[in-house]
Amino acid sequence: MKKIVLLAGDGIGPEIMAEAGKVLEVLRQEGAAIETEPALLGGIAVDQTGQPYPEPTRRLAQAADAVLLAAVGGPKWDVLPREKRPERGLLGIRKDLGLFANLRPAVVYPQLASSSTLKTELVAGLDLLIVRELTGDVYFGEPRGITERDINGKKERVGVNTMIYSESEIRRIAKVAFTAAQKRNRQVCSVDKMNVLETTQLWRDVMIEESRAYPDVSLTHMLVDNAAMQLVRNPKQFDVIVTGNMFGDILSDEASMLTGSIGMLPSASLDEKNKGLYEPCHGSAPDIAGKGVANPLAMILSVAMMFRYTFHDEETARRIERAVFAVLDQNLRTGDIWQAGMTKVGTQAMGDAVVRAMG
Ligand code: NAD
Repeated sequence: MKKIVLLAGDGIGPEIMAEAGKVLEVLRQEGAAIETEPALLGGIAVDQTGQPYPEPTRRLAQAADAVLLAAVGGPKWDVLPREKRPERGLLGIRKDLGLFANLRPAVVYPQLASSSTLKTELVAGLDLLIVRELTGDVYFGEPRGITERDINGKKERVGVNTMIYSESEIRRIAKVAFTAAQKRNRQVCSVDKMNVLETTQLWRDVMIEESRAYPDVSLTHMLVDNAAMQLVRNPKQFDVIVTGNMFGDILSDEASMLTGSIGMLPSASLDEKNKGLYEPCHGSAPDIAGKGVANPLAMILSVAMMFRYTFHDEETARRIERAVFAVLDQNLRTGDIWQAGMTKVGTQAMGDAVVRAMG
């Protein structure tokens, strides 16, 4: 039996989680060995327990096979001290579960290609996956801080961060990228800055070494500045991009903008055993919370990713993705992706349509 913890969180979180719940219920009724348990995270957890990541949630998340998270945060909690803010709950659970690999697909459904800021022909049919290392690099390296130093005989403040990757950290993210590519078009592009940064020279060397275990996957390399350019010049050249924490932070946001629809983008964060936290890329959208208009598709596509990467059930993952494709083909659209001539539907109607399309 697979245990899934459901963290609905704040804002539109409960509304979109309810729709993901419908998809899970269909699968359960068909005999899928899954069991769900709701728990508190974020602002709602602060309200009910005083902590953004309460101990019972921590215990459930640690014991679970996978965690589905909708979104946390909102203006109500922005006045709290930092350690009580909902976002602290998010950082807490990611760290606690040892999630070192972040997978963000950028998929442009042909039906939505005109929502992109790029020309339709450049993005229609785009399907790329960014694999970002999440727990190392300059964001965590030591030493760090702002200190004083003698510069040309004068004391000055200097800011210091350290870009550091160990061989084992690079190897484990390489494995995630190559394995993911095996489920796709078998191409990995590793992004680095080896012409100036030794850390990323090691990154490139280890990527090459690790690629030998995956002869069915082709490995190419690209410098990060070129990758940023290629993503807007010809994004369809990529299948899987693997990169470090900082470059991945920037490139994954750039890639998500190619799709033009934040309500459509799921993500996964994995640990060493493929246990995962699955969540939409968007936030809790307080501006539309409680109105029943939020797009539940990123949340539902996060369920598909969970079946693919944690449960190794490609068939169910594809079935959910095909159902999402089908509702777009039926011209059903929530407000965020609506265009003239389409049928505008709310959160629940969109979830129901996906369930029907799973048929
Ligand atoms: P946001 O992603 O919540 O919203 C940005 C815009 O996109 C808003 O106009 C919103 O209405 C729209 N939007 C987002 N998701 C949508 C959906 N599913 N359907 C339709 N429209 C959607 O970003 P924000 O406004 O910067 O942040 C709001 C809150 O969410 C903040 O408290 C922030 O800290 C939090 N946040 C949480 C996460 C997370 O839980 N992982 C991520 C980002 C932001």
